[in-house]
Amino acid sequence: MSVKTVDQIEVRGKAVLMRVDFNVPLDNGKITDDRRITQALPTIRNVLDRGGRLILMSHLGRPKGGPEAKYSLRPVAVRLGELLGQNVRFADDCIGPAVEQAASQLKDGEVLLLENLRFHKEEEKNDPNFSRQLAKLGDIYINDAFGTAHREHASTFGVPQLLAGKPRGIGFLIQKELKFLGEAISNPKRPFVAILGGAKVSDKINVIERLLEKADTLLIGGAMAYTFFLAQGKKVGGSLVEPDKVELAKKLLEKAAGKIQLPVDTVIASEMTDTAQTRVVEGDIPDGMEGFDIGPKTVERYRGRIANAKTIIWNGPMGVFEKKPFAAGTKAIAEAVAAITGQGAITIIGGGDSAAAIEQMGLGDKVSHVSTGGGASLEFLENGHFSTLDILRG
Ligand code: AMP
Repeated sequence: MSVKTVDQIEVRGKAVLMRVDFNVPLDNGKITDDRRITQALPTIRNVLDRGGRLILMSHLGRPKGGPEAKYSLRPVAVRLGELLGQNVRFADDCIGPAVEQAASQLKDGEVLLLENLRFHKEEEKNDPNFSRQLAKLGDIYINDAFGTAHREHASTFGVPQLLAGKPRGIGFLIQKELKFLGEAISNPKRPFVAILGGAKVSDKINVIERLLEKADTLLIGGAMAYTFFLAQGKKVGGSLVEPDKVELAKKLLEKAAGKIQLPVDTVIASEMTDTAQTRVVEGDIPDGMEGFDIGPKTVERYRGRIANAKTIIWNGPMGVFEKKPFAAGTKAIAEAVAAITGQGAITIIGGGDSAAAIEQMGLGDKVSHVSTGGGASLEFLENGHFSTLDILRG
């Protein structure tokens, strides 16, 4: 049995309870990037245009289990109203009699945004009583929050379970994410090249193992590379490493038989600052120095692999791209990935920092897909499904 998409469900006159990911960055109550809102618009408009009564729920930030003004979704209601060109009602809480009344007063084509789900610690605990109170609000359940699809919380798991007898489905954003990520791991056009970077091996270890089964080549960058250097017996100076993962890195290198490519040169410095003096070394990183980016020879090598690829998945920057002296590697890889997209390759940026990097470089629309969920996309690549979406089958 398959999961329905929103357009396959009759919504007219019905209360559509929809989980969205409006976890936008805020600076003093101002939204600094509204992409998470705009990406939910196709699903939201589809429901409203067909006369549904839309009740939106989301989390924002990491409040400590109670209301905190700086994590209020109220600014999101205002921005959503501007984008939709219609009034968006706002409820000061996400459960309780006042919310139920506000939801029951909605007319066809109207929208209500509930206050931050995580103002109740029960959300992340998937508390049955909290789920029951949320579930009361909907005749239909839709999940379009890809960023939290890997979490069994009340709004993503308990609520859709309780609404099992009612129409349930996913929105267009999740549909798009699953299409790109799903096809890449189940039926990739080859060569399939995975690019992994970022700070830690431990965060990505499961996905490395999985990608070694699926991909033809794994290009490693970021601080993650230095744990592999240690496994090869190289010196890494003061670079960020995970000594307890060296054995694992050794096993992966033994198992991967030429699939894993490591940097052949490294941009080093004695400090991670915007004005740091840098130098490029091949092989060992001297004491007192740290590796902060892949070097130019590595860039050339990785560029060659990327240029031949038909499918690319990239997760994690190649260096400390936030600092100018260490941004070149990530920038060059982003440009190479964008260029090969123009020649027909499927290119997927797996959310998080690599998504931020590619957007920062203005290349976001030059790749096939920029995932909206870093953790979620990694988990999907690893497991190939989400329990929160499996329960929507029927
Ligand atoms: P992750 O969340 O694991 O994808 O890690 C992203 C972070 O890794 C970014 O903030 C980068 O600055 C950081 N990073 C990448 N390369 C290095 C490096 N060589 N040393 C320290 N941090 C790094």
